[in-house]
Amino acid sequence: MNTPTDIQVDLKQRQVRLTWADKPSPSVYTFTQLRKACPCAECDAVRNNDDPLRILKPDQAITEGILRPYQPVELVGNYALQFFWADGHQTGIYTFDFLRQLGNG
Ligand SMILES: [Zn+2]
Repeated sequence: MNTPTDIQVDLKQRQVRLTWADKPSPSVYTFTQLRKACPCAECDAVRNNDDPLRILKPDQAITEGILRPYQPVELVGNYALQFFWADGHQTGIYTFDFLRQLGNG
């Protein structure tokens, strides 16, 4: 199981940096990248274009990533991060395994 040894949220540069024990350099994620990759069911449906209500909420679920300025991210157990986007979206649970994979791309 992947668990970062350090988690940095840079609100100014709009980046999240995760350091892994077995990787020489940290994985860097832009907020936009994280928001577009949001693993929640709603964003998944929009990405897969199989949501019948999509026309009612066109792509609102996936926009430019802007985190709320206070408590923008929280640990979920010891296996995931939850991001709190400025528009109120917060249902995505980003497991460290998922983030590790995303960072390798
Ligand atoms: Zn989502």
